[in-house]
Formats: sequence, structure tokens, C-alpha cells
Amino acid sequence: MNIHEYQARELLAKFGVPVPAGIVVSTPDEAAKAFDTLKAQGVTLAVVKAQVYAGGRGKGGGVKLVRSADEARTVAQNILSKPLVTPQTGPKGVKVAKLLVASGVEIAKEYYLAMAVDRASGAPVLIASSEGGVEIEEVAHKNPKAIIREVVNPLTGLMPYQARKIAYRLGFTGEQIKGAVKIMTQLTELFLKSDASLAEINPLVVTKPTDKSPDGTVVAIDAKINFDDNALFRQPAIAAMADPLEEDPSEAKAHKFNLSYIKLDGNIGCLVNGAGLAMATMDLIKLHGAEPANFLDVGGSASEEAVTEAFRIILDDPNVKGVLVNIFGGIAKCDTIARAIITAAKQVGFKVPLVVRLEGTNVDAARKLLADAQADIPTMQVGSDLTDAAKKITSAIKKA
Ligand code: GDP
Ligand code: MN
Repeated sequence: MNIHEYQARELLAKFGVPVPAGIVVSTPDEAAKAFDTLKAQGVTLAVVKAQVYAGGRGKGGGVKLVRSADEARTVAQNILSKPLVTPQTGPKGVKVAKLLVASGVEIAKEYYLAMAVDRASGAPVLIASSEGGVEIEEVAHKNPKAIIREVVNPLTGLMPYQARKIAYRLGFTGEQIKGAVKIMTQLTELFLKSDASLAEINPLVVTKPTDKSPDGTVVAIDAKINFDDNALFRQPAIAAMADPLEEDPSEAKAHKFNLSYIKLDGNIGCLVNGAGLAMATMDLIKLHGAEPANFLDVGGSASEEAVTEAFRIILDDPNVKGVLVNIFGGIAKCDTIARAIITAAKQVGFKVPLVVRLEGTNVDAARKLLADAQADIPTMQVGSDLTDAAKKITSAIKKA
């Protein structure tokens, strides 16, 4: 699960990480007002930031520095008025509904700091670099030596010696070391206690020196946190942070019924059980010259109700010009799928071609159910095997 930057900042602050103050707004006037509120606290530089789950906002024009309420209003108007396209959103971009107006900082240097899961060592890993900022992907690619990795024992958390070692290697000096060590420790604690799968601060910055802090201070000015969905049952406060506006509505609906559904750009809707079979089905569709409209794994133990919902989601997609059902019944029962097809035909209707390939548990009962219902589902054909089914659906949509 994802959360917004402003929520990630709140979580960081809760664990003690220094984060500049900010206010969430959704209109240009609110952005101007937010600037004035910050100004009353002594702020002269602020940053207006699009709140979307995608990263790379700086490169896409979704992060702008402002020095007056009027400027905040203009910038907010601009960001809110069109989809934000970043290297991570795809060419259509994403809608921006919320902005964060945060106190800005004068940056001396940008660093990268993250906690992630290291599958190779089966443990959390702290990842850090002195070359943080918007080019971190480039750095990882071209100069992997500039990325420091330190495996963390999940039972003890980050040991003080580990944090100090990394702080020195990153080149922090004087008071900065204390600040950086504290932030690394707090970030690790947040990661472990909140069942995160990624907790990233990019950039972590050292601010320009002032009389009060001649070494500058270390603060987090951006944050991205992902959580393990399987742990959300014990993280109710985090589960409550999910923003339905950021989720594709059909994906959210599928989630409710425990279906793994991802919308794609093609025109053949697929209903499959098992992720591997779903992948193979998508490959076959492509092999026969068409494109899948979605990935959909109904799972092993799907109920008739959930599968009917799955058909509803597929058929609601106006891009879908044909549906391919490919079930290998193991735990999933073919007759459950057949009943769901019949219910979906009654409740939604298959106006587009439908090809069904069923094998496995209760297949005979399923075939009989479908044969009896054929008159009510005139667009339905039966596929004898996977290739036959893929050929039938691709040629059916070409004729249609
Ligand atoms: P991202 O592009 O989505 O990762 O958004 P960030 O919040 O990381 O902002 C992108 C870049 O904008 C940062 O790497 C900084 O260089 C710059 N930036 C963000 N906030 C501030 C700020 O308060 N002051 C200054 N000077 N630059 C900032
Ligand atoms: Mn960033």
C-alpha cells in the first residue's frame, strides 16, 4: 500500500525525524492562505508539491519553489489544472487533487536514505548515497559504488556503530553526524514498526549554514513509504491512510473481492485463476496478435459472487471487445466459474465474444452447465485448449 508524501512526512515526524512544516490544500486560494500561515511563522521560502503516489514530480513540474502568496496561488493553479506527467506516470499523467505547501529550505547538499527489504539476505537493508536528489536512479545505474548498503538485523534494529559508519562514509561532518545518525535510527524504527516494505527519504538534505547552526542541519524534505499489504490487518492507522482517489476505481473494487486485477491497455478481457496461468494467457493473446485488457487472477478459493464481480469489472471496461476465460481448476472449481458466467450473463450480459476454456476439478459439471446455458449466451464459444481458446478469441474480435 502507498501513502502520500504529506502522510509519510507526518509519520517521519512522529518517529522524530526533522521535517519542515507543511499544509495540505486543494485549491489555489488555499495555497495562498497556506503561504501566509507559514509566513506568520517566519517562513520566506515555500515549496508547492503535487500530492500523487507517483515519484519524479520535480522533473514533471509538480514541485515548485515560491516566495509569496500570489506566487503560491499561480503555481497551485497551474499544477491543479492539468494531469501531472512524470517519468513514473506514463504519458497520460495523473490527476492532482491535493497539494502540499511546505516550508522551503536552502539546500547545501542532497543525500539519499532509504530502508528496504533485501531479498538476497532476507533482511531489511539501509541504503544511502551522498548523491541524492532527482537523479538517484541514474546514479544507481551509472555509478553503483556511490550507493551504500547496510543489512539491518530486524531484531536489534540499526546498531549505533552501523549508523555512525554510514554517516562517515556519506561525508557528514561535525553536528551533521549526530543529526544523520538519529535520522537513520528513526527511519529504521519506523520501517520495522509500521511493516513498511520501502521507506525512502530523497532528498535528505543538509541546509546552508547559518549563525545558529554553522554546520547546517539535516532534514528530510521528501518521503515515500510503501507498506506490506499482508500486514495491514495489524496496522489499522496506516490502512486508514489509503486515498481512494489515487486508486483506479475498478482495481479498488477488485481489491474488495480479493481479486488481483490490473487494468491494461488492450481489448481482450482475461479471467484466469493463478498468477502464472494469467501471465501465460496474456502471452498467448499477444502471440496471436491481440493485447490483453487486464491481468486478472481470481485466485484459488474465489466464490461465485467474487467471480461474478470479476466479470462485471471486465465488462464495465469500454475497451473490452472480447473476453477469454482460462481456468485450470485445482482448488478453484470449474462449476463455480461456470455458474458465475451464467450469473454475469444474466446480470450484465456478454455483448462481446466470450471464449471459455476450462479444465480440472468439476469440469464435467461445468461443461454441462454451460452447454445448457448456451442459448442464453449466444456469443460464447468453448476453447478445447489454451492455444485454441486464444486463437478463437483473437479471430472473434477481428470479425466483430
Ligand atoms: P520528487 O521529484 O517527486 O522526488 O520530489 P522532491 O520533493 O524530491 O523534489 C524534487 C527536488 O526539488 C528536490 O530534489 C530538490 O532539489 C527540490 N526541492 C524540493 N523541496 C525543496 C526546498 O524546500 N528547497 C529547495 N531549494 N529545493 C527543493
Ligand atoms: Mn524526491
